[in-house]
Amino acid sequence: MNRLLLLLCLGCAVAPDGTPDLHLDRVREAMRMPGVEVSVRWLDCGEVNAFYTPEGTEVWGIKVAPRTVVMCNELRGEAPGFVRYVLAHELSHAIIHQRRIPFTGSEEVAADELAAVVFGVYEWQADLYATANRYRRMGDVWVPPWDPHPAPLKRAFTIGCLAAESENKYPVFCDSSDWEHALTSWIRLLDL
Ligand SMILES: [Zn+2]
Repeated sequence: MNRLLLLLCLGCAVAPDGTPDLHLDRVREAMRMPGVEVSVRWLDCGEVNAFYTPEGTEVWGIKVAPRTVVMCNELRGEAPGFVRYVLAHELSHAIIHQRRIPFTGSEEVAADELAAVVFGVYEWQADLYATANRYRRMGDVWVPPWDPHPAPLKRAFTIGCLAAESENKYPVFCDSSDWEHALTSWIRLLDL
């Protein structure tokens, strides 16, 4: 299994693709970048999860091709805005890998930020708030020190602040320069 797997995807099975109600095509279109090729595949995972595999992998006998985002079918029970964000986060991993985008700290933080920047630019703040609420509802869960993902409440805070600031709203606890910094950084990193 690739180290980018968020959590172990158990019992994956092939499921039909295509989820027109989720409007995932608009996310794929927004995140289409020169030099980046990525497929999206839906599998039964036994849990709400998603991951990007740069080199391909095999999960319970099912081969997943290189450069594939796996979206777990269990996500279909989640809020559509959160599902769109999850796809954007995984596509961000693909962009970071294939474009060899430099980052410091956790790649998970970089992927969260790129997804939030794209959604902010496209004025999909509602999806960002849905995502922040999803993480906020997870509460103060323990995250092991080796997990590169920020704790859910931290992700809720970061994504919620970027969403608000992208709408020129500045909640008191947010750093008012975060959105501008994230936006200008990614414009440079992606050579846009
Ligand atoms: Zn990730």
